[in-house]
Amino acid sequence: LVRYSKVSKSFGDLKVLKELDLAIKHREKVALIGPSGSGKTTIIRMLMTLEQPTSGVIELEGEPLWHKEVDGKLIEADEKHLRKMRSDIGMVFQHFNLFPHMTILRNVTEAPIRVQGLSKEEAEARAIDMLEKVGLGDKLNAYPAQLSGGQQQRVAIARAVVMRPKVMLFDEVTSALDPELVGEVLQVIKDLAEETDMAMILVTHEMDFARDVADRIVFLHDGQIEEEGAPQEVLGNPKSERLQTFLGRFM
Ligand code: ATP
Repeated sequence: LVRYSKVSKSFGDLKVLKELDLAIKHREKVALIGPSGSGKTTIIRMLMTLEQPTSGVIELEGEPLWHKEVDGKLIEADEKHLRKMRSDIGMVFQHFNLFPHMTILRNVTEAPIRVQGLSKEEAEARAIDMLEKVGLGDKLNAYPAQLSGGQQQRVAIARAVVMRPKVMLFDEVTSALDPELVGEVLQVIKDLAEETDMAMILVTHEMDFARDVADRIVFLHDGQIEEEGAPQEVLGNPKSERLQTFLGRFM
């Protein structure tokens, strides 16, 4: 579904990713773990088209994301191509940026109506279904400021998933939350992961969550994949010394 081929990314002199090769299959749930600054967020921001790779190619279902094929050659993609590709990708950020002046329901129906051209009735039916799934069926007419951080983050998840993307990206979605609100948000993502065919890429520092939700865990160090595999192998029997040290911090 998604393929990174020799993808590098630099910010000025700082090389954040170094010839990364990473493929994600249909339906696969992949957790990205690693120390701060290892490049996790950059990997998903490039897929969300928020950050352009310095070199290399990212493909979604075999189609280059940042490039367009013209006469067998890859040229830089234009905004129209990026917008089309982006419609298959959903993302939830650390900070839920809900529209403060809109009700919860409108926050979730806005994009299906404007971007996908759904009728108000269709969009509302889909949105209510989604909001019920994340446990907020009774908050449709509330405003974001009336909800807890955990509830707001669940709205942000519903807002992204309602667009039915092929791949969902979660970037440390609980790290800005009070500890007592983390569990409810992780549970919503776990339930979604079990129910849905969407692929997911999750950047997280929650190792128990990664173990429960992911089919595969990828450990990044210094812009490269240091170790990857099934959760029980990567977390239970880490081979590289760096991964052992990294996991030691969570014990
Ligand atoms: P964390 O767990 O702290 O979020 P991470 O593994 O997600 O870390 P990235 O956010 O991908 O790491 O960042 C990798 C490096 O790139 C960091 O050193 C960061 O400061 C740098 N970086 C990220 N975005 C930019 C930017 N827009 N301009 C300059 N440097 C950046």
